Amino acid sequence: MTMTDKQTESFDPVEMSSQQFELAACYISELRSGLINFLKQPKRITILNFPVEMDNGSVQSFQGYRVLHNTVFGPGKGGIRFHPELTMEEVVSLAKLMTWKCALVNIPFGGAKGGVICDTKLLSESEQRRITRRFTSELADNIGPNIDIPAPDMYTNEQTMAWIFDTYDVLHPGKNNRPVVTGKPVEMGGSFGRQEATGNGVYHLTERFLAKALIPSQQTVSGARVAIQGFGNVGAVTASAFFRQGAVIIAVSDSQGGIYRQAGFDPAEIVSFKAEHGTVVGMPDTMTITNEDLLQLECDILIPAASSNQIHQNNAYKINAKVVVEAANSPVTPAADSILCERGIYVLPDIIVNAGGVTVSYFEWVQNHSNQQWDLSKVNKQLQKTMHNVMDLVFSRWQSFVIGESTVAENIEITNAEVQKPGFRSIALSIAIERVAKATLIRGIWP
Ligand code: GLU
Repeated sequence: MTMTDKQTESFDPVEMSSQQFELAACYISELRSGLINFLKQPKRITILNFPVEMDNGSVQSFQGYRVLHNTVFGPGKGGIRFHPELTMEEVVSLAKLMTWKCALVNIPFGGAKGGVICDTKLLSESEQRRITRRFTSELADNIGPNIDIPAPDMYTNEQTMAWIFDTYDVLHPGKNNRPVVTGKPVEMGGSFGRQEATGNGVYHLTERFLAKALIPSQQTVSGARVAIQGFGNVGAVTASAFFRQGAVIIAVSDSQGGIYRQAGFDPAEIVSFKAEHGTVVGMPDTMTITNEDLLQLECDILIPAASSNQIHQNNAYKINAKVVVEAANSPVTPAADSILCERGIYVLPDIIVNAGGVTVSYFEWVQNHSNQQWDLSKVNKQLQKTMHNVMDLVFSRWQSFVIGESTVAENIEITNAEVQKPGFRSIALSIAIERVAKATLIRGIWP
């Protein structure tokens, strides 16, 4: 996403995740001293530099990362992204998010994340295949069906996962290696419903939130006016899921800009326009808007489904939605969180909103280990149940603080808007941190 006027705030991912962590710690009654520092740090960081032969015969050097944040609940789990602006610090903070996500939806994984600095828009398919294979072989036994299990993320997809599986399988013959990676094509051990899982999960989480009646005028998705930033896999599936339930999709966007139509559109129409033209911009009978305009539209539900730091200190005052639903990872900065909270705009955080992806990854992993294939309705039913459960869990803890049943930890000064009302992010994070901390102590610190 191209962005303007976000210069004044620091977007250092380490600093931002540490701010969120500190705030969440206020909602945890007891945490053994020193444990917080352990939970903040990644367990292992792997940095790899490797050469790849390009189509024109030249050799290019690439840098890739795999960060394992925590393994208290099980092997690492998390996506691999290909992005030209990727940094190791960003991968570390995304690995942390995975730990909290997995803990919240109660699946037996720790958090991990990886990526390669590269621009897929400038690479041929065979160059991407060679990058993936070489990266996978360099990762060696840092990944494995019970060690650390990658999945798709930004600019990687089912095909990338098939290459990872194939490379790992060639290097580890004679074993059931299918569970080494999730998000594979259905024809090659993937799960039905995995590709749509994140978007469908965004929908289920939001429907459950609306049913809590915090927004009295909008207790169901039907009739809600929805703006979605990003029309990749997550944005497009989210748009269709909301549309099927009667929401009015008034705006969507991609990296080239956005489109707006007061009466709303059928996402299927946008999907076919984008397939033909490579962008949503220019679709007939729509008004062209910028990504920044889209964020400021008057709507009921704003869904940032593109990249990080889109709603920040300088535009949070201009958001005109009743609830912001974080389908992307980290689209709202801590400063923006605080401003939105002050303005009475709810923010549903990434660690619950987009947890549908890793949830169905877990289903895929279970199917692969037991050599089974679940049908789509079983996957979708279980996904809906998981998303509803996690919303219920976070909501009831949130409510206990709002009505004063629970109180913030003693000796802690909360300096921002959360004094009045806790945010769902802090509450969700506090549940996740508490779960991981408890499990760490139950296991016992070795030796
Ligand atoms: N990349 C996705 C995420 O950020 C999915 C991870 C997974 O399925 O392991 O949640």
